[in-house]
Amino acid sequence: MSKPRPVRAPRGTQLTCKSWQTEAAYRMIQNNLDPEVAERPDDLVVYGGRGQAARSWEAFDAILATLQDLGVDETLLVQSGKPVAVFKTHPDAPRVLIANSNLVPHWATQEHFDELAAKGLIMYGQMTAGSWIYIGTQGILQGTYETLGSLAHLRGWSSLKGKFVLTAGLGGMGGAQPLAITMNEGIGLVVEVDPERAKRRLEIGYVDAVVDTLEEAMTLVEEALESETPKSIGLIGNAAEIFPELVIRNVIPDVVTDQTPAHDLLNYVPSGLSIAEANVLREHDPDAYREKSQASMAKHVQAMLAFQKAGSEVFDYGNNLRQRAFDYGVKDAFNFPGFVPAYIRPLFCEGKGPFRWVALSGNPEDIYATDRAIKELFPEDQHLHRWLELAKEKVPFQGLPSRICWLGYGERAQAGLAFNNLVAEGLVSAPIVIGRDHLDSGSVASPNRETESMKDGTDAVSDWPILNALINAVNGATWVSFHHGGGVGIGFSQHAGQVIVADGTQEAARRLERVLTVDPGLGIVRHVDAGYEEAIQAAKRHGIQIPMLKED
Ligand code: NAD
Repeated sequence: MSKPRPVRAPRGTQLTCKSWQTEAAYRMIQNNLDPEVAERPDDLVVYGGRGQAARSWEAFDAILATLQDLGVDETLLVQSGKPVAVFKTHPDAPRVLIANSNLVPHWATQEHFDELAAKGLIMYGQMTAGSWIYIGTQGILQGTYETLGSLAHLRGWSSLKGKFVLTAGLGGMGGAQPLAITMNEGIGLVVEVDPERAKRRLEIGYVDAVVDTLEEAMTLVEEALESETPKSIGLIGNAAEIFPELVIRNVIPDVVTDQTPAHDLLNYVPSGLSIAEANVLREHDPDAYREKSQASMAKHVQAMLAFQKAGSEVFDYGNNLRQRAFDYGVKDAFNFPGFVPAYIRPLFCEGKGPFRWVALSGNPEDIYATDRAIKELFPEDQHLHRWLELAKEKVPFQGLPSRICWLGYGERAQAGLAFNNLVAEGLVSAPIVIGRDHLDSGSVASPNRETESMKDGTDAVSDWPILNALINAVNGATWVSFHHGGGVGIGFSQHAGQVIVADGTQEAARRLERVLTVDPGLGIVRHVDAGYEEAIQAAKRHGIQIPMLKED
C-alpha cells in the first residue's frame, strides 16, 4: 500500500534506472517532493496552491517502478500524474510524455475540474510541479530579481536602494520576494497570513525579520528607509486587511504587488478568518468560502488601485488577482498592468527566458563548475555575473543543487553543449539535467500573464504552446509536458515544458543543440507573428526561417 512518506532523490553516480535519461526523471520527480523543496509533500503538493508531482501515492510509486524498468527505446505516458502506458518508440524520442489538467475548453471550469479531482480523475500540475523540474524558490527568485531589476531600470532608478516595496504571500513562489527585493537593495514588507510559512522563510534566510503587528513592521521599514539599508520584513496578517489599512494611513509604497494564491479561490485566505477557521469553512461550505475569498480580493485590489493613484508602481505578479476582483465588480481592476507586458516582453522577443539546470549527483561542486562555465561563455554579461555571484553567496540549495539564469536564443544551446562537455570530460561527477519554467517566450498562452496585451490581440491563442510541445518532443527532449491552468488557474492558461539531460554523449549533444535552439526560437517566432519589431530584428539576426516574414 503506497503511503505518504519523506521522499528524497538518490544522489551519486550509481544508476537505479537503465540510463541517465530515465534516472534523471526518476530523481527529479522525487526531488520535487523533497521536504526541502515541496510545500506539502504528504499531499504530493510541490508549490502553487495544489500543484502536484503525481496524482496519488499509488501513481507516484507506479511512476518510479516504471522508470526503473524503462528501456532506452521506450516512452512512458503520464496522464494527470498517473502512468497510463509504456510504448516502444526510439532512442531519440522523449522518455516521458506528460499531459496534466487538460480539459476541453467548454468544460474547462474550476467547478468541473474540482469534481474530477475529488474523484481522483485529474490532477493540477501547475507548471513545474507535474513536469518534475521544480527547483525550490531559486527559480522564482531569479525571475523576481530580473523583474524588479527591470522595473527599477524602467523607472530610472539605479536599483531599489531606498525604495519601499509592499507585497504579500510567502509561499512556494512568493517566498522568494523578500530576498529578490534585498538583492536589488530595496526594503520589502511582505504580508503573510500563515505564521508557519513566514517562519520557514525566516529559517532559510529569505526574509530578515518576521513581526506580528503593523506598528512593529512600519517601525522597521522606516528605519531601513532612513538609512537606505536593504531589509525585508514579513508581517503576519491578511493582505486584504493590511493593504487597505496602509491606504487609510496614507502610507504609499514605491512599488506594490502580490503573490497570494489568488488563482485559486479555495486557497486564498479571506479576510476576517484565521487559518484554522479558513480550513473549517473550506471543508464544510466551499461556496461560502469562494464568495468570501472573492470579496476579500476585491478589497485587496481596490487598495492596490488606490496606491497606484497615489503614485506607487503597481503590478500584478501573475496570480490572476485582477481577474478575480474584476469578476466581483471591480471594473477598473485591470488599470494596473501584469508584469509581463510591463517588464518581461522585451526579453521574450529575444527568446530570452528562464534556463535552469540541476546536478543529478547531488554535489554542489558540480553546480559551481557550471557557474564557472557560464561565466566563461558570457564574459561580457555583468548582470548575469552579478546574479551568479549573489546566488552562490545567498541562495541555499533546496533538494538537489541547481542553478537558474535567463538566457536567450543561441546562448541556451551554447550552455547546454558546454555542460555536456563538462560531463564528457569528467569535470562534473554526474550528468546535468536542463529544463525551464513553462513561463517562457514561446511556450505559454496565458492572457492574464505571459501573453497579456499581445500586440495583435492573440493573447488566448494556444496553438503556440502546442507547437512548442510537439517540436520539443520531435527534437528529442528527455521529457515533454503540456499543461492547463498553471499559475493563473483553471481556464486561464495552457503551457508546455521540456527537460533534457546532458549525459556527456554525442547523441545527447545533438539533441541538446536541436532542442535548446528551437525551443527559444519558437519564442522569437511567436513574437514576430504578433508583430513585435524587436522579435523581427532578432529573427533576421539569427537567420530564423519564417515563410511569411517580409524581407526589408
Ligand atoms: P502558495 O499557495 O505556495 O503560497 C501562497 C501564500 O499566500 C501562502 O503562504 C498563504 O498562506 C498566503 N496567503 C493566502 N491568502 C493570503 C492573504 N489573504 N493574505 C496574505 N497571505 C495570504 O502559492 P505560491 O506558489 O507562492 O504562488 C502564489 C501565486 O503566485 C499563485 O497564484 C501562483 O500561480 C502565482 N505565481 C506567479 C508566478 C510568476 O511568475 N509571477 C510564478 C508562479 C506562481
